[in-house]
Amino acid sequence: MNGLSIKGMLGVLLLAVSGVVQGNVAVPEHFSARAKELLADSIELAPAAHAVNVVYFLGNDNEPEPDYERRLSELLLYVQQFYGKEMQRNGMGARSFGLRREANGNVRILLVRGKKSHRDYPYNGGANACLQEVAEFFRAHPEEKHSDHTFILMPTFHDEQNGEKTPGGVPFYGYGRDCFALDYADFDIRHLGKNTREGHLLTKWLGGFAHELGHGLNLPHNAGTTSDVALYGTPLMGAGNYTFGMRPTYMTRSSCRMLTASETFALAGDETDFYPEGAPAPVIEEASVVPSADKLVVRMRVSGCAFVNLQVQDPPFQVNWDYDAVAFCMAEEKLPGTDSVVYSLEVPLAELQGLQNTRKGVQALELLLTQANGWRYRWRITLDWSKLTLGAPLPLPALDSLYRGY
Ligand code: ZN
Repeated sequence: MNGLSIKGMLGVLLLAVSGVVQGNVAVPEHFSARAKELLADSIELAPAAHAVNVVYFLGNDNEPEPDYERRLSELLLYVQQFYGKEMQRNGMGARSFGLRREANGNVRILLVRGKKSHRDYPYNGGANACLQEVAEFFRAHPEEKHSDHTFILMPTFHDEQNGEKTPGGVPFYGYGRDCFALDYADFDIRHLGKNTREGHLLTKWLGGFAHELGHGLNLPHNAGTTSDVALYGTPLMGAGNYTFGMRPTYMTRSSCRMLTASETFALAGDETDFYPEGAPAPVIEEASVVPSADKLVVRMRVSGCAFVNLQVQDPPFQVNWDYDAVAFCMAEEKLPGTDSVVYSLEVPLAELQGLQNTRKGVQALELLLTQANGWRYRWRITLDWSKLTLGAPLPLPALDSLYRGY
């Protein structure tokens, strides 16, 4: 049998028949030696119900970077394994975002050509024009749309500021359920972890690729607890885009738990209707936060929610100022005979060493409520350590002051 298991053969057979398989396919023969080496310890991922749409977007006047299908397939499968291994380590099962595969084992990457010059889709302000044309593409090819999440890659500009050695010019950020990253000729897994110019460049752009993809799959920024940072390094959704592939980088348990309610992580057979319009918000029925000298005791009763995560952060409380938000998962206890669940957590202040204001200044406690349908809500409590009374419950904002999104 040449070492091929029945299951492996079935995978190859399915691949040949449908051209679309989630989960496990042997590393393709035409992959580079370095990719084969890096994917050799791949874990078996549970088959996914949906896949991230991967789009390579061009203007009407540029071309893909050389060998993009192999290079990006290797990188996408490596990042898929990274997510899968972190999900498994955090107790969420061996699962990752789904990817569609071609018959030769490459990831299915949809080549979409825009109507305008590539220079009309720049970093500043280019995302919307691109997204409109990608939406048009999916209207014309509905069979190619496998979820609400689309990962768009564009080749670097080639101009005075940007080129193969200094890639850039194009959108590079998460944008709702879409996200953007870039491509250049040396964006190749063979440079991973190397102390060379190409190696450092790869960490920067592959770390960003994995991080922005996280945003596109529903993740907010977060930071690690004191204990986890000592054990595992830098969280991908914190500053991990600068360490990925070069120094220890991990995903927080909070991020992994959030991914269990992302459409792209749903397991085969899951028929959840994700992100339905008009779905009711969760209801916070009661809540309390009691600070003490060494911890914050948080308890809330909520209905209409799948799980609650909690983040503590220093000001300012604005988009992209939340890299410092130390993230936790709240414990849950279902109340028999009701739809309500009690979520509780004791936040040890010793785990907040990355923050400046603990015990002295203003901080926010962000309660992140996630529903099984993928909708996410944020309830923010601000506290001022210099004014509060230890042992006394904090005054809280209105229980219905929920913001949709994290
Ligand atoms: Zn980010």
